[in-house]
Amino acid sequence: MEFDIKAIRKDFPALNQNVYNKPLVYLDNAATTQKPQCVIDAITNYYSKQNSNIHRGTHYLSQQSTYAYEETRKNVALFLNADNEKEIIFTKGCTDSINLVASSFGKKFIKKGDEIIISALEHHSNIVPWQILRDDKNAVLKVIPITNNGEIDIYKLNDLITPATKIIAINHVSNSLGTINDIKKIIKIAHSYNIPVLIDGAQAIPHIPVNVKELDCDFYCFSGHKIYAPMGVGVLYAKEKWLEEMPPYQGGGEMIKNVTFDKTIYNELPFKFEAGTPNAGGVIALNEALKYVLNIGYDNIAKQENILLKTATEKLLQHDDIKIIGTPSLKTSIISFVINKMHHYDVGVILDHYGIAVRTGHHCTQPVMDYYNLPGTVRISFAFYNTLEEIDILMFAIDKVKQMLS
Ligand code: PLP
Repeated sequence: MEFDIKAIRKDFPALNQNVYNKPLVYLDNAATTQKPQCVIDAITNYYSKQNSNIHRGTHYLSQQSTYAYEETRKNVALFLNADNEKEIIFTKGCTDSINLVASSFGKKFIKKGDEIIISALEHHSNIVPWQILRDDKNAVLKVIPITNNGEIDIYKLNDLITPATKIIAINHVSNSLGTINDIKKIIKIAHSYNIPVLIDGAQAIPHIPVNVKELDCDFYCFSGHKIYAPMGVGVLYAKEKWLEEMPPYQGGGEMIKNVTFDKTIYNELPFKFEAGTPNAGGVIALNEALKYVLNIGYDNIAKQENILLKTATEKLLQHDDIKIIGTPSLKTSIISFVINKMHHYDVGVILDHYGIAVRTGHHCTQPVMDYYNLPGTVRISFAFYNTLEEIDILMFAIDKVKQMLS
């Protein structure tokens, strides 16, 4: 498909509005992405025409929504190149997917003294569930350090692995620095010791095509809302062999085959892990979001986002008083920076008044901020629908911020 930025921007109604009488410049895509009209239409269509509980009804609407829900599962399996749709579990989001694995894998496979390895570059969502498991089981949590340029120090991984290591959980892309981690190498090292690997793909999925078979990861998690789909829906990919062995995460309707007061027989995969009524409308809209992304094409996405990343980086570096935090050799379109002596929050508030949406603070990665000895940063994060003109507006506003705060 030809990349026509004007036409693409028209697909996203939220981009075409003013805030404080200024055109919105939305540079907070790592927090959540805006939604194309096809995704909004899918939600509207679901609630105006299809709304019904899935898997349970004999009636027309229930059959329609069950079909659309299960078609999404098939398409997500194709999207990730999973072996089959039994390996795709719908969740509330990436956080929910990680908690599912920490809880369920943990229940079965982690005992006192066992070790879990994460990295110092993780989002809190890939730290806290493992801490809860550690405390529950008297296990040990080990952390792979990062290097000064903001990369996971893979060479330290071998030193951390012991016969007690039971799982490694690592992000594909860092949400605070944009680092693209060499997860293929990490998975290879882990598998040479027979250790399974969970990948937190929240920040990779909108930018990088993911092939779980090629990666050979054991678990891959992402949220719909980071890839132009609605909030409240997420995906857990897991190798079937793990899902077969893991106990259910939650109990309730749908995840059962037969219930008596003595015993419950659980449903088959993937339903064993989907207790209760799911966000069917959200899942069905996720299908539209994935189709939209594939239609634009990851090559086009990378091309546009790399131009934006390169241009904004060069322009920011023209300022002696601006420091970019994290300079990894491979990164997505995220830039974290600080302006000398200016608090990130003040910078964010002033940029907001110029219509520019950025994220400020620790970005749910307090250990990363501790490493750099910073209370927080200003983070801009581009999507393919951002433009070079928006970078000019940002640079103009940064000059104003500096005048006002210095
Ligand atoms: N992991 C990373 C790297 C993230 O950036 C985020 C969200 O920002 C999450 C996990 C959690 O995603 P969610 O809040 O959608 O569950």
